[in-house]
Amino acid sequence: MPNDPHLRCLVCDRTAEPPLEPNPRRVSAATALSCFHHAVSAPFQWIFVSFWGITPAERRTALELCTLLKQNPHSKHATVCAVLPGIHRELLHCLESAKVDRVVFRPVAEALRELWSGASTGEGRPVGSPPGEILAVVCPYFNALPSTGSHDVHVCGGYRNRMVLTPWRIRTYCEVENHRECEWYRNPAKPTDGTGDVR
Ligand code: SF4
Repeated sequence: MPNDPHLRCLVCDRTAEPPLEPNPRRVSAATALSCFHHAVSAPFQWIFVSFWGITPAERRTALELCTLLKQNPHSKHATVCAVLPGIHRELLHCLESAKVDRVVFRPVAEALRELWSGASTGEGRPVGSPPGEILAVVCPYFNALPSTGSHDVHVCGGYRNRMVLTPWRIRTYCEVENHRECEWYRNPAKPTDGTGDVR
């Protein structure tokens, strides 16, 4: 619980950038293996798994870690929180299937500050939101192209994945309930006539 003065948390952050402030109630791990080892060796109330600045292969490993943490009897009662750099619909579905408890879209240092401040004030407000709550407002056509780097390129499935989405459109429509007002959501492109053109 956030208002528990004995709260301890475990952080799996591959990049460790920016470095976290020292805190005796936090254990840090740079790899999924070391995080899992800590998680099954001692009780933690919160386990943060960061997806910032990692490659697609490392993302799959981080997702497997989340799945294992929620399956293992020694770690499954901890609140597992995925720390994401932005909304990625497919990844959110995977996190929901893995039974990840919370998702937060801030660097891990900020998520931790929020956790500790809740602990010190006794507010008891949990950090982040369940993946299902986020998915409930995201446009079902909001897709990410398979990426080779650590940054996702988002495209519109309502335009047959041929329109790269700008940060403005993503913020204004794709990530929020307002997507129901979007022209492509209301009138998605039909299948082509074989010429490759969107009709
Ligand atoms: S542009 Fe419109 S239809 Fe396409 S993903 Fe964004 S909100 Fe959805």
